Amino acid sequence: MSAHYDAVIVGAGFGGMGAAIQLTRLDYDKLLILERESDLGGTWHVNHYPGLAVDIPSATYSYSFEPNPNWSRLFAPGQELKRYAEHVADKYRLRQYMRFNTVVTGAVWDTDHWAISRRDDTTVTAKYLLTATGFLSQPKKPDIGGIDTFAGKIIHTADWDDGYDLTGQRVAVIGTGATAVQLIPEVAKVAAELTVYQRTPIWVSPKLDFPVPPAVRRAFAALPLTQRIARFAGTAVLELLMVSGVLHYKQLRAANRIGELWCRAHLRRQVRDPELRRKLTPGYSFGCKRPTFSNDYYRAFTRDHVNLETTSIARIDESGIVTADDRRHDIDVLVLATGFDLWEANFPAFEIIGRGGRNLGKWWRDNRFQAYEGVTIPKFPNFISLNSPYSYSGLSYFTTIETQMRHIDRLFTAMRRRGATEFEVTQEANDAFLDRMTEKLGDSVFVLGQCATANSYYFNPHGEATLLRPSSTVNAFREAGSFPPDDYVLT
Ligand code: NAP
Repeated sequence: MSAHYDAVIVGAGFGGMGAAIQLTRLDYDKLLILERESDLGGTWHVNHYPGLAVDIPSATYSYSFEPNPNWSRLFAPGQELKRYAEHVADKYRLRQYMRFNTVVTGAVWDTDHWAISRRDDTTVTAKYLLTATGFLSQPKKPDIGGIDTFAGKIIHTADWDDGYDLTGQRVAVIGTGATAVQLIPEVAKVAAELTVYQRTPIWVSPKLDFPVPPAVRRAFAALPLTQRIARFAGTAVLELLMVSGVLHYKQLRAANRIGELWCRAHLRRQVRDPELRRKLTPGYSFGCKRPTFSNDYYRAFTRDHVNLETTSIARIDESGIVTADDRRHDIDVLVLATGFDLWEANFPAFEIIGRGGRNLGKWWRDNRFQAYEGVTIPKFPNFISLNSPYSYSGLSYFTTIETQMRHIDRLFTAMRRRGATEFEVTQEANDAFLDRMTEKLGDSVFVLGQCATANSYYFNPHGEATLLRPSSTVNAFREAGSFPPDDYVLT
């Protein structure tokens, strides 16, 4: 059976679009982008809860080759990211490849191509398979007894009901991750009563946000170099935070401590009550879990109608939440800011069977989570997994995307030069990469800091922090453009 497509890409978010742009640059045009949702944009299509904004400076959180001079703020609101995704899809003519509302249920390597099955029981075939299904794409509903009996409204932040009005309602929010930090101040503005159920506090830094003045936007449009400089500055600051505060904890413990003190000072400025401050203070090292930015999160808890509940939830019943000390709290609306499943059954997002029947999810769980340069896996020929262990490099997702585009470019160019059409990473190259990442992790806050109580999704179920690549983004980018082609068998 011959392949129908040069490549199938699963996911029409920024990662999938970046991969598609790279493949078109390599002159592939028989592409198919399959997307579970009803439109493109990934995270920025799915998430539209109140307060949604990027928490990486927008000039940095965008493709370097497609700068947007029109960001309204330093940290743009969510709708602008969605509009930017639409602009990129139009400009790079990607919509023609996209099929929405298409759930992929499995992929099997068959001799010389991938067979990709869809929920409607149809199968497509392709020479290459690329998955860009995101890490934060499988919403997690908490496993709390009685939750299905709740008679009021339940909303997960990743499935926000825009038509539902929270004004004057008694609202409970479960979760205090980055999403809740953005959402809670907005809910506090309209709810009659808001109770936040916190299991693990989060480190919150002040957010130096401001509207981008029209004159600056005009300068960005007229002189793209000025925006490049802004991008470079943003990237450099993020890199410094990541490398010094998190990855080189062993050598630069003081930098990590500064991050912690900065957040503690912010909390002290906003919250006078020492008991409330104690409850909001994390008991784990800065960086074990993704810290976040907000100028109004801590302050929201000082309002009379906002309560912070730290006693664990025992159960939920028809009318509200009962805590472990048998206190009950009646509510109208339950908001689940409970995040996403990353490493459990949904990783990878669907069953992928490689050469010799190797099941990727099972293999990762039975062995260690691993992928060469965060993109390829032995026994999975012609397969690029963009959301893999050690794939995420730096704090802006775009750093990862462009590093991976570079890897794809080098790999496919090498393959063509040798007259090959098939690639598979060697076991040796994969093992050497895994050893190197494991060794580097040994210097990081994840190994040397106090992360036991962080409940951080950076850690997989084996207790290894395999989400972030423990090297600088410069190192990742350089390797993507210089890895030895012989790390692959090209046939
Ligand atoms: P998250 O960081 O995983 O937070 C989920 C929260 O729900 C945690 O506080 C968790 O507590 C709590 N939770 C989960 N299950 C629970 C249960 N059964 N009982 C009580 N509490 C429970 O998810 P998120 O806030 O959606 O953020 C995910 C990521 O999205 C962020 O880290 C960030 O990378 C990204 N994000 C980015 C932006 C942006 O602007 N770029 C904005 C929002 C989110 P534990 O910590 O105890 O598990």
